[in-house]
Amino acid sequence: MTTENTESLLISATSACLQQGGRLTEKRKRVLSILLKSQQPLSAYQICDCYSTVYAKSISIMSVYRMLKFLQDMHLAHRLDTTNQYVPCSHINMQEFHDASHVSPQFLICDQCNHVNEVCLGENTLNILNRELERCGFSMQENQLEIHGTCRQCSPPIDNSSVLGSSDTAPP
Ligand SMILES: [Zn+2]
Ligand SMILES: [Zn+2]
Repeated sequence: MTTENTESLLISATSACLQQGGRLTEKRKRVLSILLKSQQPLSAYQICDCYSTVYAKSISIMSVYRMLKFLQDMHLAHRLDTTNQYVPCSHINMQEFHDASHVSPQFLICDQCNHVNEVCLGENTLNILNRELERCGFSMQENQLEIHGTCRQCSPPIDNSSVLGSSDTAPP
């Protein structure tokens, strides 16, 4: 993420907070900015380390957790339960930011490069999934969906010619 992008996202985040009755203080803004600039999801401890390096000021882990909680409450950041890491929300500067659909965020997590993609699978898909889970006597935790796998960049290229031409797959 470029500095310019980060700046404009921080401006959007500030007004999103105001709309929700919160205030994006300087420290909270710094934590969000660390998340936005990182190419990877971060743990609270990594944020803590990064904060003291970037801003030459130490910060307690408890403060970091408090600020992350605030950012989560404002839907500016998300916690990945399966990895215990944090990512900035991908919808900070979007109009539909406060849509109810955002109540159940969905994440595609690449286990090779740790890249996280926040996606919108759509209400229908989620309803179907929830119904199926209900049928199994199961309820999804907080409606947050985290799918682990391999992203496009990390997937080996599909070489059709070798598959079709291979004698292994040819019928006897
Ligand atoms: Zn989000
Ligand atoms: Zn990947």
